[in-house]
Amino acid sequence: MNIHEYQAKALLKSYGCPVSDGRAVLKAEEAKTAAGELDGPLWVVKAQIHAGGRGKGKFKEPEAGEKGGVRLAKSVEEAAELAKQMLGRTLVTHQTGPAGKQVNRIYIEDGSDIARELYLALLVDRQSSRVSFVASTEGGMDIEEVAASTPEKIVSFSVDPASGFSDFHGRRVAFALGLEGAQVKQCVALTKNLYRAFLEKDMEMLEINPLIVMPDGNLKVLDAKVSFDGNAIYRHPDVAALRDETEEDPKELAASKFDLNYIALDGEIGCMVNGAGLAMATMDIIKLYGAEPANFLDVGGGATKEKVTEAFKIITSDPNVKGILVNIFGGIMRCDIIAEGVISAVKEVGLQVPLVVRLEGTNVELGKDIIRNSGLNVIAGDDLADAAKKIVKAVKG
Ligand code: GDP
Ligand code: MG
Repeated sequence: MNIHEYQAKALLKSYGCPVSDGRAVLKAEEAKTAAGELDGPLWVVKAQIHAGGRGKGKFKEPEAGEKGGVRLAKSVEEAAELAKQMLGRTLVTHQTGPAGKQVNRIYIEDGSDIARELYLALLVDRQSSRVSFVASTEGGMDIEEVAASTPEKIVSFSVDPASGFSDFHGRRVAFALGLEGAQVKQCVALTKNLYRAFLEKDMEMLEINPLIVMPDGNLKVLDAKVSFDGNAIYRHPDVAALRDETEEDPKELAASKFDLNYIALDGEIGCMVNGAGLAMATMDIIKLYGAEPANFLDVGGGATKEKVTEAFKIITSDPNVKGILVNIFGGIMRCDIIAEGVISAVKEVGLQVPLVVRLEGTNVELGKDIIRNSGLNVIAGDDLADAAKKIVKAVKG
């Protein structure tokens, strides 16, 4: 689960990390009052979307100006004007995809003077099963470029969970960032607090880009991107309350309400499968035969007819879906339940695209009978390969 920059900064502030004063606004009318509460003489007006690269992003609407989603203002009035320009507009960054994201919230922050822009992140390193620090002197807007062309400028190491964080980890980060004197101490305190926040809140990633050195030598968190482990959210009602559903894919949101493991993808073949491994294999085999999956979907072992119906509705609500492949290996899941769910969903929402169903396992004959007797135009698949070939052929001709 992702949160907005302003929420991440409030959280980090509660852990003692240095951030600027700021105000989040949802309406243009609120912007002037909000900006007026900050000291100035520089204001930063920042589009709040769950995607990075805002500074270099572009708005779709010319009324929002050419200058991206992070802008500097020299007066309260100018800050309010910029907020008004950006609210409700669609910002496209290299992380949003070409469709962009609508800006529904603006963060107005007290502007900082910058001497150096650094990069600092914590993330779960799956290789070592540990929390890793990633640090680079090349902070700012192009860390992806740094990683691609000068990877030696990025320093990374992990923390042994048994011994936990020690000050030397912080000094190691400080050294990697080229910090000196009192900054080293600040960096140790900062990294210690970040590490504690990361563990206590079950974060998956915490990225500060940039961490700045100000002209007076002090450090400040100028941008913050935090994502949490979705499986641990139940432990953190305070984090759950930060969820902004307007930022999420509506299909994934609907799926989460029905406890379905669904991930939207870009392809044309919708998949309904039971079991994560089989779902992965199904996506692979669709690609093998020359098409692309439109989603990952594991309906799970204990799915009811209602859940299957919802899953089917979510798949068909995706306008990119040109065909559907249902692939069920009934172990705990019974084939007849899947068949009933598919049919009830088709009755409700109709079937505009070819549908291939491959059933195997518990109650397979019953399931096949239900589909056969439904009068629906369903193509039967004998096995996984056969089913994949048939749906690709039906879609691609
Ligand atoms: P991102 O583009 O989505 O990563 O947004 P950031 O919050 O990182 O802002 C992008 C860039 O705007 C930063 O790298 C800074 O160069 C600049 N910026 C952001 N806040 C300030 C500020 O307070 N003062 C100044 N001078 N520049 C800022
Ligand atoms: Mg940034």
